[in-house]
Amino acid sequence: MSLNRSRREFLQAGLTLPAAGLVSSSLDMSVQKEPPKVTYRTLGKTGLKVTGVGYGIGYVPNVEVVNRAIDWGINYFDTSRDYRESEAIFAGCIKGKRQKIHISTKSGSTKKEEILQDMDTSLKTLGTDYVDIWQLHARDLPARIPDEAIEAMVQCKKAGKARFIGFSCHNPNNMVDFLLDAKVFDVMQTTYSFAIGSGFREKAVQKLAAAGVGVIAMKVVVAMSGIGMKRGGSGGPAKTNKKEGEGPLAGIKWVLSNPAIGTTVPNMNSIAELEMNMRAMSEPYTPADEQLLFTLNEQIRPDYCRMCYQCDGVCPKGLPVADVLRYLAYYDFAGDLYQGVTNFRNLRPELQKVRCGDCSECAIKCPNGVQVKNRLMRAQELLA
Ligand code: SF4
Ligand code: SF4
Repeated sequence: MSLNRSRREFLQAGLTLPAAGLVSSSLDMSVQKEPPKVTYRTLGKTGLKVTGVGYGIGYVPNVEVVNRAIDWGINYFDTSRDYRESEAIFAGCIKGKRQKIHISTKSGSTKKEEILQDMDTSLKTLGTDYVDIWQLHARDLPARIPDEAIEAMVQCKKAGKARFIGFSCHNPNNMVDFLLDAKVFDVMQTTYSFAIGSGFREKAVQKLAAAGVGVIAMKVVVAMSGIGMKRGGSGGPAKTNKKEGEGPLAGIKWVLSNPAIGTTVPNMNSIAELEMNMRAMSEPYTPADEQLLFTLNEQIRPDYCRMCYQCDGVCPKGLPVADVLRYLAYYDFAGDLYQGVTNFRNLRPELQKVRCGDCSECAIKCPNGVQVKNRLMRAQELLA
């Protein structure tokens, strides 16, 4: 698929995404006679009993899949004020079912009054008088959580509008000590997967769990979907004999094999995907899973940024490399060009204009084997 064609397809189809959330998935292949088994875990000291497989609602919830997930017993759902129509569409799915589920949503603001306003807007939009988890969205630096933001979060909790509070981040190593020192947060939602988990994040996750902080794992399967290989990643087509969906299944099983993890929030777009992912709660993690994940991980090595942040601050033009590569991954590995473009266009204007093709040589040598310059050029062509 050429970049131009990808972009054209997005402009023709992707810009109507909110409406697409109301359409049934044509990918649904399985009609389950029996719902998949659910198992529960405790989300740190919150004491919430949450299903090991939760649901990342994302920008465009597929209502058929969300409804089925609720019917099948998934009880943890994650959304955000930043996901545009997400809360409103989700609200239609939970009418009359509020008591069966735990809701997490987030504010993107750093300002007290805006966070308080966001809280009220979320409650109104979702049609509920409380959320279970209220988070600050995407905080990878302590400076992104000023005192006034903490005050607002605590105020929401004291008012009973949020049972528990926390924040999401892509770089837990930067934020663990901050979270623990603040002594007010109950949960952290962070990136964690076979591809990016071991090594970079394990200590942080263990430290949080030991302190009783609920750990919610996100980006648990995106790298293992095989989508990146189909969309023009340099790893070539998948060289496994496994069926589609078995990579993500193995990936969630790997995450859930760590007792420090409270729940996971994969985004799901078909009943088949939901059914496959839910199996991770009752099936053991096996040597065959390990082999599959290892194989997939090597195939995506040149294309998938592990978000280790070792290249932070290295680009002389100031590019936040890991962030831009993550935006590209939304499309290449999760099939969501809309999210990639939206994030890219939130970069400062001067960063949106940087073109890596103008550099004779990239200053970044990725220790994880990512072809940084090629990937950034693809991001700039596709998302700018
Ligand atoms: S590009 Fe490489 S060094 Fe930079 S964050 Fe990604 S994996 Fe780490
Ligand atoms: S190619 Fe140049 S602009 Fe792009 S990340 Fe590398 S050093 Fe920065």
